[in-house]
Amino acid sequence: MAQGPPTADAPLMPGAPVTRLPGVGAARAKALARLGIVTLADLLRHRPIRYEQLNAEGLIRDLPTTGDAIATARGIITAARWVPGQGYGKKGRFQATLQDDSGTLALAWFNAGYLRDTLHPGQPLRVQGKVKRFDGYPQMVNPKWEKLPDDDADTPEQGDRLRPVYPATEGLPSHAIEKLILAALDAVLPQVQDPLPAGLTRAHNLLPLAEAFENLHRPSEPDDHQEARRRLAYNELLLLQLGIAMKRAYVSKRQQAPALKAGDAIDRRIRERFPFRLTAAQDRVVAEITADLVTDTPMNRLVQGDVGSGKTVVALYAMLLAISSRRQAALMAPTELLAEQHFRSITDLLKGSDVRVRLLTGGASTAGSAGRKKLLAEIADGSADLVIGTQALVSDRVVFKDLGVAVVDEQHRFGVMQRARLRSAGEHTGDGRLRVPHQLVMTATPIPRTLSLTIFGDLDVSTITGKPPGRIPVDNRVVSEHQADTVYEYLATRLGRGEQAYVVVPAIDSGDDDGDSESTLKSVAEHAQRLREKLGGAYEVAEVHGRLARDERERVMQRFRDGLVHVLVATTVIEVGVDVPNASVMVIEHAERFGLAQLHQLRGRIGRGASTRRPLCVFVATPTTDDAIDRINAIAATNDGFKIAEEDMRIRGMGEFFGTKQSGMPPLRVADIPGDLDLLQLAKRDAQQLINADWLLASDEHTLLKRVLIQQYGESLGLVDVG
Ligand code: ADP
Ligand code: MG
Repeated sequence: MAQGPPTADAPLMPGAPVTRLPGVGAARAKALARLGIVTLADLLRHRPIRYEQLNAEGLIRDLPTTGDAIATARGIITAARWVPGQGYGKKGRFQATLQDDSGTLALAWFNAGYLRDTLHPGQPLRVQGKVKRFDGYPQMVNPKWEKLPDDDADTPEQGDRLRPVYPATEGLPSHAIEKLILAALDAVLPQVQDPLPAGLTRAHNLLPLAEAFENLHRPSEPDDHQEARRRLAYNELLLLQLGIAMKRAYVSKRQQAPALKAGDAIDRRIRERFPFRLTAAQDRVVAEITADLVTDTPMNRLVQGDVGSGKTVVALYAMLLAISSRRQAALMAPTELLAEQHFRSITDLLKGSDVRVRLLTGGASTAGSAGRKKLLAEIADGSADLVIGTQALVSDRVVFKDLGVAVVDEQHRFGVMQRARLRSAGEHTGDGRLRVPHQLVMTATPIPRTLSLTIFGDLDVSTITGKPPGRIPVDNRVVSEHQADTVYEYLATRLGRGEQAYVVVPAIDSGDDDGDSESTLKSVAEHAQRLREKLGGAYEVAEVHGRLARDERERVMQRFRDGLVHVLVATTVIEVGVDVPNASVMVIEHAERFGLAQLHQLRGRIGRGASTRRPLCVFVATPTTDDAIDRINAIAATNDGFKIAEEDMRIRGMGEFFGTKQSGMPPLRVADIPGDLDLLQLAKRDAQQLINADWLLASDEHTLLKRVLIQQYGESLGLVDVG
């Protein structure tokens, strides 16, 4: 938004930056930004944590000293000292006198030794509490207190009121935020227009928007702020649900994906390729996907299932449906190692068919530029049927002739909302719709229902419950570092029975996914060397990490798969997706350094085959923080990925867990999920009705609503060309 210099007659609009407020310079703006506040509208939606009853300030001489009334006074501290308790178990007290022009008030706080460093003579102070007369003087015991600025810039409390207490940040305490918010209210409220259609405000008995802002921050009655909050929360949730509903309408009306053929014959042909029968859960998800794919409404489906639940084969089914309808399919993986593995296993499964499977990764290690050029040409002319790759697939140079199904594996590794945009040539169909592939995203991270109603609301969700038959649950052991020797002795016993093992070493420096740091590589090499010495040459130990050249990495993985390598010492490059069913033992060194989800993913590498041996995961850990102890306890306590995810969310907080902070989705400031679930359902229903009636929100009554919607969600939901 273009902002001219502030002038007296240019009213401040809600979208204006906070720096337009008097007294907000760079430092303040930075502190506000830490709270996620950039515009005046953000400031108005900064929700108080609670409210405090504040009473009018009186002169000390006039303070009521009988009854239960809470009084408020201000003055300057004239004396302060700590009086230790007399005798064992007696409380000490911090004692001070507060003086204004009219008199002196005695203050005492029991057991409050910390006040010694905080309250000093000369400090202006506001106190609040009951006043009693003691020894001829008015006195407050354990009053609430608040330091006031030296310059007396703080205005005295004129009347009784509820004072909002705001989430604060360093250098910006609640009362400073309050002052800014009051200034913003005064400057902006006259310009605030209510985007809600009058019908809705009436039906739900909602306050007008300006009044809601006013009552949230300046409530005059004790209950005012609750109504205000409800209105503002509804507003947020309605906009979010409108965005989601409009996105869905947009996809079905303005986008088109190829309607694929399905049927018994095709189904049989595809299943013949699989070396096992699908589980009931896999069958159900395949049916859900197939129902999407036979229409020309683009599929946007998320498949969630725990590590090892068998998601790949479900994705392969969808891709083969595309190919049997003579379209192309693509599978995107977060690491080269996983892309290579998918390429290998899918190539194996499709051996003898005429499906042309290709691998496209971005690393310097891929075939030379001539090979790459040829590959891009095959993708463009349709002679590559099934293309597997990394993020390189979404590069501008990769244009498919006719992409039917695009799969994103391990979606959570790409960041929550970054939806891949794989493209076909000839972007528009005859009737002007945009040609897009059907999209399938897969994740091992279960999405709680609240999130599937909010930030994942534009995706349909399928869940693969359970695991393929014959899996024996992993046996988990936690040992401390000095027991590691015993672990490796036992490892030798297991190797002697023909088992294979991973030993995972943490990254020393957090490099990116495929690029481990030099020191990590050194520690991988040292660890492998130590193991070789311990195992006395009887077993083959190899290393794999992100810096290994592709052909070398493939060679090592192949030798591990073939059973020629017995122990694979690895960094977290093996974390996602790697599938070697015979590997049944894992040792994770410095397990305390890994995140909980990461530990679960790593452990998911073992116990993937039907076997009679009980897989074993040993966490070598020396946790020193509470969180680390929680993580290690949680990972050892269960193999259930859904429970682990819950625990992880509890430890890390939901925003951090789902990377919603990086999602580009505007945060919900007033609404509280799951607390406002009822309101969310209401908003969802209303949004659907609005979109059913006027999906582009083109009518006059909806103009403002649409503008606000596109402003907030246009980018994150990809609705820009709707506006
Ligand atoms: P994830 O869900 O973690 O991606 P995968 O798709 O890699 O899991 O499957 C894990 C292992 O289970 C693979 O070795 C796969 O071949 C095997 N698998 C998948 N489905 C079945 C099934 N229905 N019966 C037996 N094994 C299966
Ligand atoms: Mg997988």
